[in-house]
Parts: sequence; structure tokens; C-alpha cells
Amino acid sequence: MSHVTLTALRKVYANGFEAVKPASYAITPGEFVVLVGPSGCGKSTMLRMIAGLEDISDGTLEIAGRVVNTLDPADRDIAMVFQNYALYPHMTVRKNIGYGLQNRKIPKDVIAAKVAEASALLNLDDYLDRKPSQLSGGQRQRVAMGRAIVRDPALFLFDEPLSNLDAKLRNQMRIEIKALQRRLGVTSIYVTHDQVEAMTMADRIIVMNAGRIEQIGAPAEIYHTPATTFVASFMGAPPMNLLDGQIAGGAARVGDHTVMTDAPAAPGPVTVGIRPEDIVADPNGPLTLDIAIVEELGAHRLLHGTLAGQQLSVHVGKDSPATTGPFRAALKPGAVSLFDAGTGERL
Ligand code: ATP
Repeated sequence: MSHVTLTALRKVYANGFEAVKPASYAITPGEFVVLVGPSGCGKSTMLRMIAGLEDISDGTLEIAGRVVNTLDPADRDIAMVFQNYALYPHMTVRKNIGYGLQNRKIPKDVIAAKVAEASALLNLDDYLDRKPSQLSGGQRQRVAMGRAIVRDPALFLFDEPLSNLDAKLRNQMRIEIKALQRRLGVTSIYVTHDQVEAMTMADRIIVMNAGRIEQIGAPAEIYHTPATTFVASFMGAPPMNLLDGQIAGGAARVGDHTVMTDAPAAPGPVTVGIRPEDIVADPNGPLTLDIAIVEELGAHRLLHGTLAGQQLSVHVGKDSPATTGPFRAALKPGAVSLFDAGTGERL
């Protein structure tokens, strides 16, 4: 059973620009799906088509089993939380949270009960009589969440809801939103360009690039087995090291260094992907890196240098050697991803 189903959903803007190439996927009830990708990749356009704020050019959109392609946003049983919160400045927090229910002829006492429930859930009880201008950014974000919650929607849509908050608050709010979504069990689609938000919040991540879906998968799958070099370099900080390599004699090599002995690929050029944390210090290891810069980060260190003349980064623990110059290393088992040197697709 799926809750939201896209079948070859496509968006071409009036100027002829194809912002979303035909996209197909299904979201199960209660699932938290994150659409992630760089600026301009089409993730907001995709979300806005689901919300009904943008016309669908081609394809089919189903929510809860019915085709909603041309249904008004108000009739789709969804609630959307935006980046700018869209709160009414002249209304109290209480009024802001309950506002969406007032036009629906819902009895006052029912509205009051729903607002009270949402406010308790979001720790807003002490702020109900304040105006948005008297709140912090995080509190405003909670009010916007409250307004979505009281409507008991079948689907939550989030458009970069945390991007106006500072880093610390963002971390806190992302945990709050995730916990709240778990508790309410409402199917959610969340747009962000922040790969950390995607990794930490999603049940499944959809990575987009230039209007196209690059990969759909659980966070661990996206991280450990990226389908393309684009996904490999977008997810992770620092990203996966991508090196020009060769397959020869069944082995994958970078310069003179063998990085994989039984490479499942045909002889010829290949792109070798290695996560920075999969390179470990080993005085007898087969690789010799040349480290140029050591970044001290407290709990761990980042070493930046080269392997066979190609740039790479290494993530090591605080007890690992940390000097510039030659660095003997080994790779963790299964560390190497191989990609087609031309198309960038995983081999
Ligand atoms: P961001 O993170 O910057 O918001 P995004 O991934 O959400 O980016 P969209 O807002 O979906 O990207 O835009 C996708 C592409 O479509 C962009 O190249 C954008 O310039 C283009 N675009 C958006 N709206 C229109 C429009 N009305 N007409 C033509 N092109 C548009």
C-alpha cells in the first residue's frame, strides 16, 4: 500500500524549462521522505506540484488512492510548513495555530482543545498570548508546526523549514520535528539542500540533480552505496574521495597503488570512490599518501593530501598520527566504490 504515488510526474515551466524530469516513486503510509539536492535541482518544484501550488505538466499524482492532479490545494488534505513560517504578525500564537480551523466551521471548543493539544506537544503553553515578533526563531518554527498539526492532515509537506535558524537551533529542531513526526505517524515529505538533515531525518532519501532523480534509498544505502558519482560527492562532509583509476589484471589501481584486488569491472579507466573515514593509518599498509594539511577538530582530525598526485581527504580519530608528509595507510574492507569513468554510474 502506498500513500503518495508519483507516476512519470513532470514539470515544464512556461518558458519551456524542464524543472522536473519524469519522476516515479511511491511513499508508504507514515514514511518520512526527504528530497535533497543542490539549489535549482527541482526539489521545491516537485513538492509544490504535490501540494497543488504548481500545475503538473505530465504524469499522475495520487494521494491516498485518488488522482489529485487537478484538485485544489485545500482539498488535498495536506499541511505545509514553509521556510518563512508564514505566520500572521498581528495574531497571537493561539490564533495563529487555530487559524486554519476557523474557516472550516469547526466549533470553538474543539478548536481550543486542538490548539491546547498542539501547544502542549510543542512546548508553547507559555507563549500562547504572544505575537510572532515576541518569539525566537525556533518558537516561530514551532508555531508553524502547530498550525500544521491541528489540521490533522494526511500528509505533511516541509519546504526547507529550518533554513532560517542558526546551526545549533537547526540541530535541535530537526530532532524535535523527527520525534514529532514519529509520534504522530503522519506521512511526510521534506525538502532540504542540507545533506545532514537528509541523513538524520529521513526513512528514505530521494537525491535530485538537474531535475532528475539520481537515487532513492535509506540513508545508509545512499551513503555506503551511492548510485552515481554525483550522489557520492553530494552526501558526506567531506564528501567521498573520487579518484581517476584503472582496472588492470582484475585489480583496481590508482597510480601505482592497488586499492582493490578483485575488482568487478572490465579493464580500462574507472572512477574510484573512497570515503574519508575508510582510510586508516597503518604503518604496514599498502598505500602511501602525502599529507599537506592537518585540520584539528577536537574529537577527530581531517588530513588533506594526495594519493598518486590526486587530491583526497582522510578522517581519522584524535589518536591517529597527524603530521604532514608521508602517511602509510590501509583501506577498511569494502571501502572502495567503483564508478563508470564516463557516465559516473556505479559499477
Ligand atoms: P532551491 O534549493 O534553490 O530552492 P530547488 O531545487 O528547490 O532549489 P526549484 O525551485 O524547484 O529548485 O527550481 C528548479 C529549477 O526551475 C531552477 O532552475 C529554477 O530556476 C527553475 N524555475 C523555478 N521556477 C520557475 C518558473 N516559474 N519559470 C521557469 N523556471 C523556473
